[in-house]
Amino acid sequence: MKVGIIGAGGVGSATAFALIMRGVARKVVLIDANEKRACAEAMDIAHATPFAYANKVKAGTYADLNGAEVVIITAGANQKPGETRLDLLGRNVKIFESIIPQVVAAAPETTLLIAANPADIMTEVALKLSGFPKERVIGSGTVLDTSRFRTLLGYHLGVSPKSIHANVLGEHGDSEVLTWSNGDAGTVPLETLAQMVGRPLTPEIKEQIDDGVRNAAYKIIEGKGSTFYGIAGALCRICQAITTNEYAILTVSSHHNDVEGIKDICLSLPTVIGKRGIHNVISPKLNDDEKAKLKKSAETIKDYSEKALQLIG
Ligand code: NAD
Repeated sequence: MKVGIIGAGGVGSATAFALIMRGVARKVVLIDANEKRACAEAMDIAHATPFAYANKVKAGTYADLNGAEVVIITAGANQKPGETRLDLLGRNVKIFESIIPQVVAAAPETTLLIAANPADIMTEVALKLSGFPKERVIGSGTVLDTSRFRTLLGYHLGVSPKSIHANVLGEHGDSEVLTWSNGDAGTVPLETLAQMVGRPLTPEIKEQIDDGVRNAAYKIIEGKGSTFYGIAGALCRICQAITTNEYAILTVSSHHNDVEGIKDICLSLPTVIGKRGIHNVISPKLNDDEKAKLKKSAETIKDYSEKALQLIG
């Protein structure tokens, strides 16, 4: 299985590394406006393949995307300290206008996986620019945020994050919704497990976890300039679900006709992912507060989505 990655910066190269080391892709093609960077990253990662699988990674051109099952788009301007994801919008729409038509021409049957921020809005832009069916345009959405949520819950409860079912829905960004009401582990609701292990989920603890999830990117960017390992893990996981036709439920972003009354937006809901991209979207069971927050998140995205679609020349 071949995976193309457009943008060989921090996110693109970390994703290529994850795909190679986990044996998820047989071939990885890295494309970047900065060819020297793409070549250097491919060479560096190739030197790790003897310790992983008999996989190939190379820098390439759009023609090399022919037959790629997934093309991941990470090319974009990066968030500066203090800059919100939504501020990035104008810069990244222009970049997508130059990239997407070339990907479509080279790999018309591929599934697009969008990571560039603001991720939900760029997923909508990619859908429009590609003309692909909505099942084949997927945003990384809140897969990373869900993983952050499960990690912090796991630390608090003394349970592997892999055994925790709790999701972040809505925007990959400030308005994301941590869904506390429906989380569970080991057949019991999170709150029950927390009582059992003597680590109750008090309002203070919940607030700490919420802050740790919602503001993770800002904190990491403050310390090292950008985030890339977590998202690389998330992108690799989504690719694995596609290439193995897993029917895994992941909180990816995709186009929805209606979310809490807001029409035609991309955001994250629990979604069944396999060979055809999106196989199904699950309507989550939420309490009234979470529903109201999801609506607010949808409204935020709608506002910027409309602006982004107008920017397309
Ligand atoms: P980076 O600056 O390290 O890399 C971006 C790369 O894109 C650069 O190498 C640049 O040369 C390339 N590029 C720019 N325009 C291009 C074009 N027209 N064609 C080909 N290549 C082009 O940035 P990064 O840290 O890798 O982040 C990339 C994007 O991913 C940003 O938008 C960032 O905000 C986003 N991101 C998303 C998530 C998520 O959860 N979805 C997490 C982290 C970062």
